Amino acid sequence: MRILLVEDEVAICEQVSRLLRAEGRVVDVAHDGEEAYFLGSTEPYDMIILDLGLPKRDGVSILKDWRAEGVDTPVLILTARDGWSDRVDGLDAGADDYMTKPFHMPELAARVRAMLRRRTGQTNPIFEKNDLAFDTRNGRATFGGVPVDLTSQEVAVLSYLVHNNGRLISRTELSEHIYEYDGDRDSNTIAVFVARLRKKLGSDLIQTIRGRGYMIDAA
Ligand code: CA
Repeated sequence: MRILLVEDEVAICEQVSRLLRAEGRVVDVAHDGEEAYFLGSTEPYDMIILDLGLPKRDGVSILKDWRAEGVDTPVLILTARDGWSDRVDGLDAGADDYMTKPFHMPELAARVRAMLRRRTGQTNPIFEKNDLAFDTRNGRATFGGVPVDLTSQEVAVLSYLVHNNGRLISRTELSEHIYEYDGDRDSNTIAVFVARLRKKLGSDLIQTIRGRGYMIDAA
């Protein structure tokens, strides 16, 4: 699952992006309002974490523009503004959740997990099928009860297919959700990741729909 993190304080940015990546997310970072607006308007994120006080453009105005343009990506506001009226403004502008700084990392991580689950209609954080158990909270998998080593790209592919289980995912859509913005997006390598996942997790987990994409059936 791919997340846009908008934050101009470098230390917070590094801390949060490290945490998200450790849980198997793909993270793009924007340090100012213009970059944030551009990325959020053009890239298909699974959620956005948005600071309000930003260089070049304010977070609330960016959010209002996204919503007016039909960008429906879930947005979690993360800001030092903690007045009740700021929270009302943020939520009214189209935010789905609101957290004030200073904050506790585990709480942010939990809110991100909840938001990603809501986004895709998942209620159970652990996905089980055949011998696989995949924990969507941290990207860890076991097969027949034994932990399986997965690369970050394999986790990204598996996580997106699991979050969207029961839905056919095209290679293009998959590539848009498993690579970072400046990453090398080669849709041929997706076939390689899928082949490796099948080797590690069983050949019948991921279906190939020829010429159209991939799917994991609901458990
Ligand atoms: Ca700020």
